[in-house]
Amino acid sequence: MNVVFFEVKDWESDIIKKSFKDASTLSLCKELLTSENASEYAQAEVISTFINSKVTKEVLDKMPNLKLIATRSTGYDHIDLEYCKSRKIDVANVPTYGENTVAEHAMALILSLTRRIPESIERVRRGNFSPEGLTGIDLKNKVMGVIGTGHIGRNLIVFAKGFGMKVLAYDVKPDEAFANEAGFIYADLDYVLAKSDIISLHVPYLESTHHIINRERISKMKEGVIVINTARGGLIQTDALFDGLSSGQVGAAGLDVLEEEGFLKEEIELLHKDTEGDVDFKIALENHMMANLPNVIITPHNAFNSKEALMRIIDTTIDNIFCYSSGACKNLVNKQ
Ligand code: NAD
Repeated sequence: MNVVFFEVKDWESDIIKKSFKDASTLSLCKELLTSENASEYAQAEVISTFINSKVTKEVLDKMPNLKLIATRSTGYDHIDLEYCKSRKIDVANVPTYGENTVAEHAMALILSLTRRIPESIERVRRGNFSPEGLTGIDLKNKVMGVIGTGHIGRNLIVFAKGFGMKVLAYDVKPDEAFANEAGFIYADLDYVLAKSDIISLHVPYLESTHHIINRERISKMKEGVIVINTARGGLIQTDALFDGLSSGQVGAAGLDVLEEEGFLKEEIELLHKDTEGDVDFKIALENHMMANLPNVIITPHNAFNSKEALMRIIDTTIDNIFCYSSGACKNLVNKQ
């Protein structure tokens, strides 16, 4: 089996090499998989990428022997799943590495905003120890709206209940047994958005969830609502959120993911290339402007990034590959 790992970090290399005894069939690349370098790995039967490699038809066409893509992530919207199906390429993900990890990050964003932690730290660093103007809000008795009650959403619900919050949730597949056990209620999306003080997104990015938070829905939210997104940037219509933040309709936002976040990561490099058509510069500019608003916290798609979660990701990915090669497929997203 010819296996190629892309986007490999130094700490991952040793773990991967120890697991694959036959080094002649294993390649470890630090760089992203792109349409430029894909043909160098034309022999690959299995590839593993993280979310920054866009596994498009153009890329896949340069890998004629490919049988499995083992993504080191839960989300797989960076992979052209439809084209994989037509080519009979299987896609395996890591379904549950970070259910607590990502929910903890969402909670960190919420507390940072409600207790104005970044401004407080900045003030003390400037030598000012006055709490004047840094009044926050309590979470107790506030309403948390959770959109998507899968692995991550349900952890956040448990945390929110621990803080004495009321919880409303929306999911296309509500789990009433869990709702009874955890003490929250499901409602339709517009009701949850209208009644929540804090709204946190935990649905996958799909055609049906593209801009699930749009201008119209923002206008129906409670004035001063806090919006948290640790799922995918494309769930929110960026210009509508920016306008909402500017007008005060949205009181604050905590964002670990952004539309066009790939551009933010590599903008210096990209500015020297012909990127017209690939990048929505308006969204990229709005991201920059949002990052400078005092009521916005942006983290660099970092919610998964705990030591424990990283170990779970690499262990599950290696297991996915070995199970696949022995015929006992695991975690195949295209067979769900
Ligand atoms: P999950 O599959 O366990 O849960 C997703 C939930 O969304 C499910 O309950 C599903 O029924 C629901 N859902 C699907 N489509 C919906 C729709 N149209 N409307 C309402 N509900 C819908 O996924 P998870 O593990 O909880 O992860 C959620 C998302 O978080 C992932 O898809 C991924 O994009 C993102 N994520 C981000 C990071 C990060 O580092 N920021 C890390 C892991 C996952």
